[in-house]
Amino acid sequence: MLNIVLFGPPGAGKGTQAAKLLEKYQLVHLSTGDILRSELKAQTRLGMEAKKFMDKGELVPDTVVIGMIEGKIDSNQGANGFIFDGFPRTKAQAKALDEMLAGKKTPITLMLALEVDKEELVKRLLLRGKDSGRADDQDKSIIENRIRVYHNETAPVKDFYDAQNKYKGIDGMGSIDDIFGRLCKAIDLVK
Ligand code: AMP
Repeated sequence: MLNIVLFGPPGAGKGTQAAKLLEKYQLVHLSTGDILRSELKAQTRLGMEAKKFMDKGELVPDTVVIGMIEGKIDSNQGANGFIFDGFPRTKAQAKALDEMLAGKKTPITLMLALEVDKEELVKRLLLRGKDSGRADDQDKSIIENRIRVYHNETAPVKDFYDAQNKYKGIDGMGSIDDIFGRLCKAIDLVK
């Protein structure tokens, strides 16, 4: 199985690249942001609870997202592998994911971390806000908070995978196809 953690700050292009990768490598896409937004749309209790954090650009509590992802892994048994997008976002989530996958004897293969300048991130997010209507992409102060939360709470997850020799930084600047080429090259080396 090929289990990829696609990592990077908000606006790094994780969703765009995940869509291309899952087609090429026949993987299942697990995006906690997408799952939370669909819970919100369906106005479930989980969605309404998560909204309080998402609206401010804060992280939803670990227990909520860990439970959510476990359910999705279990309901996709027989998959070739997974692309985790926007998860894990804290060391506690990374530990919980390792434990879940150890139980299923299918560990994380590689963490690919997209590296993008802050100026470019803000530009991409504001543009996406216009196209998608996502509220958290339309307000510059919420965007700044998400990038701050990324640096404070999420970036340390790199060390977790680096200690397992699974971390690989990828230049996330340039065209979608160039970035995709870099990601594929890194995957093909470990596959
Ligand atoms: P994203 O679509 O990945 O940018 O996520 C949008 C929002 O959903 C984030 O700003 C968080 O509020 C929440 N969220 C998504 N994934 C996670 C996660 N793994 N842990 C905590 N909060 C998350």
